[in-house]
Amino acid sequence: MTLDFKAYFFDMDGVLYDSMPNHEYTWTNSFASFGILFPSEMAYINEGRTGRGTINLVMNKLYGRDASEQEITDIYGLKTKLMQGCPKAPVMPSMQDIISYLREKGKQVFVVTGSKQPSLIDKLNADFAFDAAHVVSGADVKMGKPDPEPYLIALQRSGLSRDECAVIENAPLGVRAAKAAGLFCIGVNTGKLDDHYLTDEGVDVLFHSTAELKDILV
Ligand code: CA
Repeated sequence: MTLDFKAYFFDMDGVLYDSMPNHEYTWTNSFASFGILFPSEMAYINEGRTGRGTINLVMNKLYGRDASEQEITDIYGLKTKLMQGCPKAPVMPSMQDIISYLREKGKQVFVVTGSKQPSLIDKLNADFAFDAAHVVSGADVKMGKPDPEPYLIALQRSGLSRDECAVIENAPLGVRAAKAAGLFCIGVNTGKLDDHYLTDEGVDVLFHSTAELKDILV
């Protein structure tokens, strides 16, 4: 198999950083503080959804209604606070090598994430030498994943056509966004979900670790 594209759009959480355990911990514990059971698998199934979207989904499942503004403020506020106490998420194995190698080969490399933490660009610059022009963040979009919008912005910035670009995603909603944008999607299942969550969304090829990804790209 050859996976040779002119541009690669990398998702961040669960692809560039091993950050999903922190999200799993903070979601389950924040909901638990309000007496709501949020199974850890749900953190992975809903990865990429906004905080508001995730809380609304849970309230609709439990009570058949959207969350109140107070509930969103309380639950998401506690999640954010718990996150501040979490260890810094380490860079995923092999990812710095992969990014460097692709740049050496003259490929364009972008990050496409729903995150909008203020230190995002600094962090991505320090760890992977990304500049702001190569990061599509939560601050750049109206819709966010699973809408194709963030990947379409990366596509536009690349100046290439769809079939010259590939997405690297770990999450079902991220794969949905990539496929809705009409892009080839390389899945890397680094979390706790069965593969079918990714194959059901139409992922084109699936790996189970970033080291495996390195073997095929580098
Ligand atoms: Ca992700």
